[in-house]
Amino acid sequence: MSHTAAPPGRFKSPVSQGRSSYLWSHVVVVVGLHALALLACVPWLFSWTGVVLCAAGFYAFGTLGVNIGYHRLLAHRGFKTPLWFERILVTLAVCCLQGTPGRWVSNHRMHHQFSDKEEDPHTPLVSFFWAHFEWLLTEDKQQNWASTYARYAPDVVRDRYYLGMERNASWLLIYAAHAVMFYAAGFTAGWLLPGGSVMAGLQFGASLLVWGVILRTVIVWHITWSVNSLTHTSGYRNYETSDRSRNNWFVALLAAGEGWHNNHHAQPRCAAAGHRWWELDPSNWAIRAMALVGLATDLVEVRAVDPRAANADAASEQAADLQATNERARTPRRAA
Ligand SMILES: [Zn+2]
Ligand SMILES: [Zn+2]
Repeated sequence: MSHTAAPPGRFKSPVSQGRSSYLWSHVVVVVGLHALALLACVPWLFSWTGVVLCAAGFYAFGTLGVNIGYHRLLAHRGFKTPLWFERILVTLAVCCLQGTPGRWVSNHRMHHQFSDKEEDPHTPLVSFFWAHFEWLLTEDKQQNWASTYARYAPDVVRDRYYLGMERNASWLLIYAAHAVMFYAAGFTAGWLLPGGSVMAGLQFGASLLVWGVILRTVIVWHITWSVNSLTHTSGYRNYETSDRSRNNWFVALLAAGEGWHNNHHAQPRCAAAGHRWWELDPSNWAIRAMALVGLATDLVEVRAVDPRAANADAASEQAADLQATNERARTPRRAA
């Protein structure tokens, strides 16, 4: 264990302080999936269908699932949607292997509450790589998840579907099931289509698994992780928030609008993260499209805020957010 002090303005790693320890199961999954993703370099496993499914998967699982389902809807309640549709979006997010809805939302709300302070689960003030992925490989030894959920995600874990994912490994089964579906679809097509064979089925199934599931999971991981690392490190600021959040065009481009992160920290509940006309925000466009067909209502809109007063505004929004979350957890919910 290191006893050297962290440089000014930085925090020592919770692992070196003895507060956290590595979770070897997480290390194996993260390293293992990166190694498996390298199979995309094997020519036998290449198919254009796999490439198209990989790209489409960024959108379906990453943008609709993580950005909209987990982040803008579940974590911030930036709009309302029928419960059945919310669950579809959350299920898409589960297929990105980023943890259960309760854990993702708890970590994210803690991030907003303590952004770039020592209690922030993933501030780059520990290190860039801590913020990018190392924090995910560790667990706080003192953390009691039951009380964390009660405080940070009561509205999420009161839902039977989401609570079930905490109590059993069903979220992992959902991930495994979607991987099997990709393989089975590829195998069936390769075997049964004209000119097909069992060997063609094995090749096409493996191709869709590697490109459409494994490589896509790893790429979406890095895109989501970049929002935690790069957008608290480099970019410009529209608002004088007390954290180090930045608007980073590169991350915004990769993460379908999530890179306008300083805007997001200033007004976390807004359905839109792009606040200027040129801050393109495809996740917001998708929410507007859902609103057009009646699947999204009560969108929280961007407010005109004095950029220098943004901090007070963000703090009051955060407080209102937590209060609304707790009220929501007490109100009976219709399975609309
Ligand atoms: Zn942030
Ligand atoms: Zn957020």
